[in-house]
Amino acid sequence: MSNERAETPFDDDALHEECGVFGIFGHPDAGALTVLGLHALQHRGQESVGIVSYDGVQFIAERHAGLVGDAFGKNGQHAHKLKGTQALGHVRYSTTGGSFARNIQPMYADLSGGAIALAHNGNLTNAHKLREQLVRDGAIFQSTSDTEAIIHLVARSHSRQVVDRLVDALKQVEGAYSLVALTAKKLIGVRDPWGVRPLVLGDLDGAPILASETCALDIIGATYVRDIEAGELVVCTKDGIESYRPFTAQPKRFCIFEYVYFARPDSMVEGVNVYEARKRIGAELAFEAPAEADMVIPVPDSGVPAALGYASASGIPFELGIIRNHYVGRTFIEPSDPIRHLGVRLKHNPNRAKLKGKRVILVDDSIVRGTTSKKIVEMVRDAGASEVHFRIASPPTTHSCFYGVDTPNKEELLAHRMTVEEMREYICADSLAFISIDGLYRATGEVKRNAKNPQFCDACFSGDYPIDLTDVDGGRADRQLSLLAEVA
Ligand code: SF4
Repeated sequence: MSNERAETPFDDDALHEECGVFGIFGHPDAGALTVLGLHALQHRGQESVGIVSYDGVQFIAERHAGLVGDAFGKNGQHAHKLKGTQALGHVRYSTTGGSFARNIQPMYADLSGGAIALAHNGNLTNAHKLREQLVRDGAIFQSTSDTEAIIHLVARSHSRQVVDRLVDALKQVEGAYSLVALTAKKLIGVRDPWGVRPLVLGDLDGAPILASETCALDIIGATYVRDIEAGELVVCTKDGIESYRPFTAQPKRFCIFEYVYFARPDSMVEGVNVYEARKRIGAELAFEAPAEADMVIPVPDSGVPAALGYASASGIPFELGIIRNHYVGRTFIEPSDPIRHLGVRLKHNPNRAKLKGKRVILVDDSIVRGTTSKKIVEMVRDAGASEVHFRIASPPTTHSCFYGVDTPNKEELLAHRMTVEEMREYICADSLAFISIDGLYRATGEVKRNAKNPQFCDACFSGDYPIDLTDVDGGRADRQLSLLAEVA
């Protein structure tokens, strides 16, 4: 799976993170800083961007389809509207049928006791059930986003304080979420009790920041303070930051796929540098699945750190055998048939001079449907490689994610349908190997996976789902619970 992340419809053979969040409180440039923070989080969602700021009198909302730079970069006209010292922003990747303006976060509502803007990264696993109840009780939904269900639950709470109302709402919610809310006087951040999705606390000149990843802090020169902990709720006001633990404690299950693919390699995630973790994954893979070859080449960009780790551990030279065109993106969002036919070649070109007659170890982060992997192996062979040994920096992806990552139905996942040998044959590689699940755990600093109480969420590899799948089990969803799933 190459790291194109929803840039083009002809490459949907990839997993997609659905959202990134950024909030800042008490800084004179809050709006512009939020634009920059979201720009750094663009890899977590490219379909739309929304920012809400508060200028001391009113909330100002800007929501746009497309990339942050396209919406807020050009002449800065939209960014200048975001006045005030506090702001909350969100980038998202839509999973079904395009990006509807009504679903662009943050969601905003005027409630008794004051207004609230809310954005989250993740997915509620009882969203359909909640929505049915709310609609039966008279709620009128403006969107199909499960964030709106949270807003309705906040509105119905009988507590007086906004933080208590938010807690009342979240106690009814199941799923994985890192949520940030903005009111006239507070910036609030919450991680679900399992801590599946990331959320960090930063500081810029005394102004607290909540962001999905530390790369959003780096871009504005902010300091990383700490990760928000699983089940923790923090409230930032002019008087400082308060921390609460309002939920029943659960075993922590951070998403291990953040280390493999989703997070940016320059981010620190749960105290671990993502780039180093990926290199260690490559080293483990070299140890577990060696091959005799002349060179190690990554499928760019996401396979690069693991390929470096593999090369370093095996002593086989690292080479750039595939060159990625970074400028293929939304220009081809609706490609004509002849362009669509070119597929993977629009983005990846083999470095023929390097590959001719060589035995190659090709390293990628994962195999989803297998269609892209097959084309890449074919491309490397056509360029003259004499052998292609495919090494994958994650265990076989056998199950769908229901916690905020867009994955196909499990029936479409190659590893769900085939054995490793069948997959090797399908993609036409000379050999194929995946890192073991224990090897992946070792790369993140664990000794091995604790089978009784896994240290991470690894459900897409193991089928061991830590959080109830109420909507799925109740027959309300036969696939991933999309943030955009239309409810009949
Ligand atoms: S199922 Fe996979 S992608 Fe989804 S949260 Fe768990 S580890 Fe991450």
